[in-house]
Amino acid sequence: MSLTLGEKEIILSSIRNIPDFPKPGILFKDISTLLSNPKALDTLMTHLENRYKSYGLDYVAGIDARGFIFGSILADRLGVGFVPVRKKGKLPYTTVAEKYSLEYGFDEVEIHIDAFGEQKGARVLLMDDLIATGGTAKAAATLIDKVGAHCVEACFVMELGFLRGREGFSAPVYSVLEID
Ligand code: AMP
Repeated sequence: MSLTLGEKEIILSSIRNIPDFPKPGILFKDISTLLSNPKALDTLMTHLENRYKSYGLDYVAGIDARGFIFGSILADRLGVGFVPVRKKGKLPYTTVAEKYSLEYGFDEVEIHIDAFGEQKGARVLLMDDLIATGGTAKAAATLIDKVGAHCVEACFVMELGFLRGREGFSAPVYSVLEID
């Protein structure tokens, strides 16, 4: 079930660090180099598939935009539906929105009101590439609950542990790589 140290290293070493992007002081974790590395991507997705195949999931919900990539691959591997959680103004049908705080100001994410169908209590895994402060993912988990589904777990490829984003999360949090 758990990754070997060698497998973790294959994934970790495929992620590129970009200093001072998008602004000074941020070390950006670039997953484009993970996506273009078939061995690293397969190692990651096979691990997630094995972890979640017994969770009885109905959907994987991915956060705009990198969560769409990992979330869609995982949903397809598990044979369940994929639902996008998007930045404000991008979804065409009736939406439900949730605001969250940024360092300065706020941002907003949205989900389609009927994203999980008519039946209430659908079991949903939330997926994104990285959890930093946790603001985006917590707002996304709130949206899943607001439209009548249940966020079973929130899953991230990377966690910036020093920002303590997992604290106060309404669902269990799983991250493949913890980064200090
Ligand atoms: P937060 O709401 O603070 O947890 O930020 C998480 C979102 O911002 C995710 O969608 C990430 O893709 C993105 N993000 C935050 N920090 C970084 C980083 N250092 N490198 C890459 N993406 C980041």
